[in-house]
Amino acid sequence: KMSGNSNAQKYYIDEIFTAAANGDVEAITKGYNMLSISPDVTDKMGWTPLMCAARNGHVNVMGFLLQQGADPKHMNKSGQTALDVASFWNQTGSVNFLNGFLKPNKSPVMEVVHYFGFSALDRQSYQRSDENEMKKAMRMENAKYVVFADLQLLVSNDAVTGKSQNVVYLTWGEIEKYLSIVDHDLIFLGVGNIDKGLLVRETHHAQLNDSPYFAVNFKKVSRDDEFSPEKYNGSFTDKDNRRLMMMLQKNESGLVAQARSVLAWHERYNFCPTCGNETIMKDFGYKRLCISESCTTHKGAHNTSFPRTDPVVIILVASKDGSKCLLGRQSRFPRGMYSCIAGFMEPGESIEDAARREVFEESGVKVGQVEYHSSQPWPFPSNIMIGLIGRAVCDDINVDKVELEDARWFDKPEVAKAILEGFGRKEGLVVPPHTAIAHHLIKTWVQRNSNSNL
Ligand SMILES: [Zn+2]
Repeated sequence: KMSGNSNAQKYYIDEIFTAAANGDVEAITKGYNMLSISPDVTDKMGWTPLMCAARNGHVNVMGFLLQQGADPKHMNKSGQTALDVASFWNQTGSVNFLNGFLKPNKSPVMEVVHYFGFSALDRQSYQRSDENEMKKAMRMENAKYVVFADLQLLVSNDAVTGKSQNVVYLTWGEIEKYLSIVDHDLIFLGVGNIDKGLLVRETHHAQLNDSPYFAVNFKKVSRDDEFSPEKYNGSFTDKDNRRLMMMLQKNESGLVAQARSVLAWHERYNFCPTCGNETIMKDFGYKRLCISESCTTHKGAHNTSFPRTDPVVIILVASKDGSKCLLGRQSRFPRGMYSCIAGFMEPGESIEDAARREVFEESGVKVGQVEYHSSQPWPFPSNIMIGLIGRAVCDDINVDKVELEDARWFDKPEVAKAILEGFGRKEGLVVPPHTAIAHHLIKTWVQRNSNSNL
């Protein structure tokens, strides 16, 4: 198959678009057989072959393209999906065909994996309590150490000027000498090969030759004498930590989130919440044990002894008629940016009710049906964002000015434009970048029909 940007490739891409518009299944099959390209290849208006076929009612070509993995929710530069194009041109056949394909019980449910949620390591939790095995793993030649100083991550200097950051991994030989002279916490992350970028849900089991990953947080380290990051061609994300942590490669973001959340917990939980005595780290980072032998936390399981994860609900609310969505802004947001309503869950509260309460408290809008979308770990310090899409039962707004600077309804075309033009947009509505779950909740709503249930 051809790849690259040859004239021949351009020729076959033109052929594919022509064949899609003409309903020529044989020609389009030939085009895709000749090229290694996405079924969602676009022209200069952002149209895909599926849109061209939908525009002219060629159901047979649409069937072929969907079989090849074409995305029926793909949007062109005007924010239209193939279904929007078909409805606009009154192609009833195309509309019915796409609606049939898009019905939730017919299309496979795709799990959304967000930034910070990409688990490239097998955590092997059963290994953590086996101190001898862990100590052997620490000294293995291919063991890799992620390094923090006061919870600031060590990243490569080569990447600082580029668009993304790279984590600097140290070997046992490099890190061993610091462990005896600098106060630190050391935790086990898991085993794997992040270059392969494998996900836990794939049929992957860590292999013997995969690397064990650890993370170290140096406390009050003197950056010049004790640990000099320059020696490893790196620097700590001191200034602007949050922004730099959002610029990692996606396959490294998950293990960094895991490391930072667990290390931040050790930083803050040095005393037993039950009796006030000191606690010490156990199980290579996944437990703290009270040093007082008479403490009741030694009997049974106690949630004070394990790393915490705080649930936050975040919800995209569609208006009663589905044509608008509710977005709010806090005064600390960049100019023009609005996002989904979010807030911490409270004890004894369901996820759905927490979302309804937050929306009502902050915007005055009453929410009815609530649907789960996806979740995103957020390691500042250790939240889990639970992403939801809901429908208002009443559109009246009454903004709580303490929580929000503003909240209002936005029309679908305006929101679609903001998604397409991205975070760098200079005027009008700006939505959060794709590294944030809010972006994907908003995008999912934009791509849906306003007459679907939510
Ligand atoms: Zn205690």
